[in-house]
Amino acid sequence: MTSRPVRLLIVGPQGSGKGTQGVRIAETLGIPVISTGDVFRANVAEGTDLGLQVKSIIDAGQLVPDELTSAVVRDRLSQPDAQGGFLLDGYPRNLPQVMHLDEFLEGRDEALDAVVVLAVPREESIARLAKRAHEQGRADDTDEVIAARLSIYETETAPILGVYGTRGIVDEVDGVGTLDEITARIIAALEARGLARPAAA
Ligand code: AMP
Repeated sequence: MTSRPVRLLIVGPQGSGKGTQGVRIAETLGIPVISTGDVFRANVAEGTDLGLQVKSIIDAGQLVPDELTSAVVRDRLSQPDAQGGFLLDGYPRNLPQVMHLDEFLEGRDEALDAVVVLAVPREESIARLAKRAHEQGRADDTDEVIAARLSIYETETAPILGVYGTRGIVDEVDGVGTLDEITARIIAALEARGLARPAAA
């Protein structure tokens, strides 16, 4: 548990394990995970208006329009449980979304404390996604869509790290290893920033 709200973003290519690690880190810190991918998938599954709007975009591995995505996130960040900190997974994903988030957080006198980047070689991401496709049968885990998503990551998402890097809040963590090893690396990086308590000796 932490004494003050911690506001984090976890970034990594599809297949980097950011979803799994995001949940683990958020549990450790006692903050909610806000995953835009999960919000969209839940809406698709429930057949809401939002779900109907985004289904074909997600299935094709393209990005949902920025205004729509940012509105969903603003709404979620306004819920009571996000007032004590949060971990964003999968948003912002491009420069316009960084600007939207900045504007929203500045309006609340808040800012991100750290951006954790999970570094995983492209071949490893592809291998993990192929495995997940086999196990979960996600419509956006086909070879073609995986390639589209990875190239969007490289062209649109990676540049956001330049912006956050100039703010000195980026921690790059080696994303290859066991789940526990990777979680421990992330926690160590957050501890170094005073954002997580050192584990009891
Ligand atoms: P994810 O589970 O984070 O890989 O997200 C699954 C899909 O949801 C993505 O391929 C996009 O179609 C959509 N999505 C998730 N987050 C965003 C975002 N920040 N901006 C636009 N589309 C998004």
